[in-house]
Amino acid sequence: MTTILGCIADDFTGATDLAGLLARSGAKVSLRIGVPTEPPADTAAFEVIALKSRTAPREEAIDEAVAAYAWLKQAGAQRFFWKYCSTFDSTAKGNIGPVAEALMAEIGTDQTVYCPAFPENRRSIFMGNLFVGEQPLAESPMKDHPLTPMRDSNLMRLLAPQVSRDVGLVNRLTVAEGPHAVRTAFDDLRAAGTAHVIVDAVANGDLDIIAQASRHLPLLTGGSAIAMPLPALYAADGLLELNAAHAAYAVPKAQSIVLSGSCSAMTNAQVAHYRATGAPAYQLDPLTLAEQGADAVLAWLAQQDLGKAPLIFATAEPASVQAAQGTLGRDKAGALIEEVLSTCAVAARDAGTRRFIVAGGETSGAVTKALGVSSLGIGAEIAPGVPWTFCESAGHAIALTLKSGNFGSETFFSHAQAVLNAS
Ligand code: ADP
Repeated sequence: MTTILGCIADDFTGATDLAGLLARSGAKVSLRIGVPTEPPADTAAFEVIALKSRTAPREEAIDEAVAAYAWLKQAGAQRFFWKYCSTFDSTAKGNIGPVAEALMAEIGTDQTVYCPAFPENRRSIFMGNLFVGEQPLAESPMKDHPLTPMRDSNLMRLLAPQVSRDVGLVNRLTVAEGPHAVRTAFDDLRAAGTAHVIVDAVANGDLDIIAQASRHLPLLTGGSAIAMPLPALYAADGLLELNAAHAAYAVPKAQSIVLSGSCSAMTNAQVAHYRATGAPAYQLDPLTLAEQGADAVLAWLAQQDLGKAPLIFATAEPASVQAAQGTLGRDKAGALIEEVLSTCAVAARDAGTRRFIVAGGETSGAVTKALGVSSLGIGAEIAPGVPWTFCESAGHAIALTLKSGNFGSETFFSHAQAVLNAS
């Protein structure tokens, strides 16, 4: 069918997060890894293209997003969504603003909205400042992220250096007045030449108001949650019919592996919890890997009972991450671990693993690419923003879940397996 909303995500976990939230409505959602090389065929009402461009060089990120836009437009989309992290992960040279401006130019629009809030995962925006739970972003564990340490909580200050046109805010007081007030505020800001509008949101009800007020805009940007109300709004507008029945997927056999390259506070807690359950676990050390390669972990993996869902992790506390980065360099340390976890994923698949639980946005991108996955069906949600997905790798049906760093509760790794067993 004709695509109604064309979505571009800057990492793979973000793409599955967005696809999962859109699919909650019963809408048909299709997720493709990278810009498809074939022209659109058999497209869904909601198409999500997953890029791995969050920390890519700016020109590369823009080129990929524009190519994704062209494909989505060809699929019939007239509305577009640029998805980034609900913690606005982005360095000073970051790609969120530049990609938004490039998409605005392609679409021919002079205003877009930025709303990374995800209240179910405790990400909220108040007076333009992003909070993780009760902490300002820059005081949250995100200040120590290995690739995109967030040292400012103010979205206007974070975005302004990334864009050429004015940045403005529609604050919570206006949102509380309802969709009409928000839309009027957008129009007033547009008249004053403001192209980039950050919008406060602290609860799902705010997102409903903002989505109602901004659904006429051809480009929206934000975390996944602001897109969640869109299917119902489009259905109310007569653009699509929602079918509450989700697609059923064959659940592959239980041989499983858990691969964790995220160093977020929550992933550290999840790794600790999973190890405490007695699950077999192997810790990767970047310095040892740099000297000795992946032979030791591959030998360990070859001896594991895959029915016990072994864990291979590089997850570490900030001090240890900084020490590794000090010796190897930030990008080299990250790339090395992503490569080794990808090699482990392929080895595990070749040994019969059919269920993959992956933690970390960049890590998920690397693992998914290595597994040669090109499109994903969306299944049951394990935690807000983290669905099981079903796809093919080297001719085998596999189940894959891609968990963004801070998502899920402490029991996520065991819970994910239980959710699949129950499906
Ligand atoms: P998140 O979703 O938490 O942001 P990512 O996978 O996107 O997780 O980013 C984590 C990055 O940190 C990856 O590039 C990963 O390879 C890197 N990394 C993981 N463990 C370590 C470590 N012990 N030392 C240095 N870098 C690490």
